[in-house]
Amino acid sequence: MGQARRQPRRQELIDCHDCGNGVSFSAVACPHCGSTEPAGPAVQSRRELQRLRIEAANDRRLVVVTALCAGAGTLYGAVMGAGGAASWWAALGYGFVGAVIGVPAAFVINISRSLFD
Ligand SMILES: [Zn+2]
Repeated sequence: MGQARRQPRRQELIDCHDCGNGVSFSAVACPHCGSTEPAGPAVQSRRELQRLRIEAANDRRLVVVTALCAGAGTLYGAVMGAGGAASWWAALGYGFVGAVIGVPAAFVINISRSLFD
């Protein structure tokens, strides 16, 4: 009865950095080899780091492109509007259209970037 009762683990299993066996991501130490860093060093592999950086850049690009398109649409609507309340509605409408166009546009940019990077 020396074995501690295992708790049901719902966490994702990762491959131990040292021995390659499955370890819960939240495990303090690998039950197979005793490694105290089963998830690997705090600094992730260069490839993983690069992927995370690209994803962060993609997220920023998505926000920026969407904001730019919405801003441009708003400006266009404000300039083209007849003035007064109608102008505000036009600005809102064009801003919305800009945002709707901006999201897929940013996705296209992201996809083409990830292909050529
Ligand atoms: Zn291990």
